[in-house]
Amino acid sequence: MQTLINGYDISRCMLCPRACGADRTRTEGFCGGGSEIRAARSALHHWEEPCISGTRGSGTIFFSGCSLRCCFCQNASISTGRFGASLSISQLAECMLHLQEQGAHNINLVTGSHYTPWIIEAIHSIRDKLHIPLVWNSSGYESSETLSQLDGMVDIYLPDFKYLHKETSKGYAQAEDYPEIAKAALREMLRQAGTPVFNADGILQKGLIVRHLVLPGHRHESMALLDTLSELLPKEAFLLSLMGQYTPPEMRLPYKNLNRRLTTMEYRSVLRHAQELGFDGFSQDLSSAQSQYTPNFNLEGIPNDTDNNQ
Ligand code: SF4
Repeated sequence: MQTLINGYDISRCMLCPRACGADRTRTEGFCGGGSEIRAARSALHHWEEPCISGTRGSGTIFFSGCSLRCCFCQNASISTGRFGASLSISQLAECMLHLQEQGAHNINLVTGSHYTPWIIEAIHSIRDKLHIPLVWNSSGYESSETLSQLDGMVDIYLPDFKYLHKETSKGYAQAEDYPEIAKAALREMLRQAGTPVFNADGILQKGLIVRHLVLPGHRHESMALLDTLSELLPKEAFLLSLMGQYTPPEMRLPYKNLNRRLTTMEYRSVLRHAQELGFDGFSQDLSSAQSQYTPNFNLEGIPNDTDNNQ
């Protein structure tokens, strides 16, 4: 079994802040990642922020597994479940080129941190053929050292900043260190991507968009998180995307507040606070459909000559 992927030894994986040390040639780590890339969908997606989706869609590749694994995950079937199919590095590169041929405004890699060395190798192999921006779409739970490997390769960072309080991240994602890790990751992402650059059609070419999903019962934490964000990064240097599409999972959670939707009052109070702080960016309309943001994970666009394991 190959132990080096793009020079990285996967027999003792320390790619993400979990630093679980799994021998991925033999087993899967906390994230669910093994020795091969797994992905659940490679297709045009029209429900990202307008400057990412544009008119033709974002070329989105959803990877299976996740190093954060929040208990209420909106993509649970692929993040904590095992849905997905194996992809070789060359097949991943082909997926990217196919999305470009389909007219995608960008290549949008969703939750790929635990496959960073594989992804870097795929991008290197098509460097001369890929002419659209590369988007790194993540939970924000990223090792700054691993992120540094993406310097000069990723054009747009699209991270979440999910939790401000360690008690919350410990309870919902077994990640007490999330707030400090995410703050360091956001600083590194801004260092790499710089201030937003748009093309003539208003499509983002470079920059950082920080997403925050307001959780039911956590509006005060969300407002304090926005205060922290406004002190952490210069407001004019990035865009904020405030989200309110929280959908309770089908299986009831041991947290009463997470088994209901966000109220209009909760969302509006956080939105008003973001406006008072003077952030530039986007906010979701609470009345818009909830399900459209979560695509149908059906292996669309994933080469079918591989050994699917669903
Ligand atoms: S990427 Fe996965 S295997 Fe590697 S340290 Fe993180 S959880 Fe463990």
